[in-house]
Amino acid sequence: MLDLVLRSASLADKSGALLDIGIRNGRIAAVESNIAADAPQALLNGRLVIPGFVETHIHLDKSCILDRCRSEQGTLEEAIAEVAAAKRAFTEDDVYARASRTLEKAIGQGTMYMRTHVEVDPRVGLRSFNAIQRLKEDYRWAIDLQICVFPQEGLTNDPGTEELLIEACENGADLIGGCPYTDTDPNQQIQRIFAIARRFDIDIDFHLDFDLDPSWMHLDEVCRQTEKNGWADRVAIGHVTKLSAIGSERLDIVGRRLKDAGVAVTVLPATDLFLMGRGHEHSIPRGVAPVHWLARNGLTCSLATNNVLNPFTPFGDCSLVRMANLYANVAGLGRASDIAGCFDMVTTLAARLMNRKEYGIAPGAPADIVVIDGTNPLSAVAELLPPLFGLKRGRRSFTREATVLHRP
Ligand SMILES: [Zn+2]
Repeated sequence: MLDLVLRSASLADKSGALLDIGIRNGRIAAVESNIAADAPQALLNGRLVIPGFVETHIHLDKSCILDRCRSEQGTLEEAIAEVAAAKRAFTEDDVYARASRTLEKAIGQGTMYMRTHVEVDPRVGLRSFNAIQRLKEDYRWAIDLQICVFPQEGLTNDPGTEELLIEACENGADLIGGCPYTDTDPNQQIQRIFAIARRFDIDIDFHLDFDLDPSWMHLDEVCRQTEKNGWADRVAIGHVTKLSAIGSERLDIVGRRLKDAGVAVTVLPATDLFLMGRGHEHSIPRGVAPVHWLARNGLTCSLATNNVLNPFTPFGDCSLVRMANLYANVAGLGRASDIAGCFDMVTTLAARLMNRKEYGIAPGAPADIVVIDGTNPLSAVAELLPPLFGLKRGRRSFTREATVLHRP
């Protein structure tokens, strides 16, 4: 006995074939053509079905604060300083209210897995962390949330921060992040973060190499530490905008180094476009790392939202299809396989980066299902096609109305 059958679905990896998806007890029971069952059904008419979008990098705790921050120069330094000042006044309820607003947007855009970074330091203490932990429980019906605590304003130069990070890890943080570029001793921070990860047996996600000077890169030390600590496939780095300032020959060498070490890369197009190249008056460099090039060579890569309505990015609708489209447009991708590849970077590759085991439309997997108003990943990215509805563990978690034209 099935609880629900979705009829005539297109799957991203099975071109052309229309399949039925049978759901029972919150899991996918069958994926085959013409399932015989008299369970309730939904007719999809060939629409694309995916196991939900995967947001690998977002900051829920500092979203929606434009009403209390300036964004005059649009530089990284200004953004960090403005948020540093604002977060002293963050309360748990304030963080919860803003973060839930952003999270609900993401749910409505079809995101079902999310890694959120949360700032922890002596100014904000564990208030944001506590709020996001409540949020994680309260929205479990719609989204699986991973909490990555990290020191935005430095670790070795900021007494008390490491103790707070450790306390957060003792109290349920899922992973640890870093931000060596704001530390007075970047390599020492990288080593301390690895030590915490080992102590708690958790994955790592760094903010890294976030400028356009290619003469040095912290990713060298991250790769070294990943190998030294045996942390392959458990480390991700975000931004890495320096990679937009090197030629393809060196890019291939760096890409191989990252792949050999087991370090994944996340590009955050909206933030990188907004904050990079501020010293230029014209012919402004885009500052977006060519992640499609790295993914082509087998590196695990993702595209993600990062910031929403704050001085790091004063925009945001939490749509990962929009982020894939933005990247494809900025990177000048024309080949169908490259454009469709951007869809992989907000779905399957993003799931791999987050080490999600049961991600897929297959028998036995959780019935996490999002129906897109189109038939394939290429048109989803090219035309910014919206999701129509989603099921989380078999239960309807959101619905959006398809556009209707009212002809005279
Ligand atoms: Zn970030």
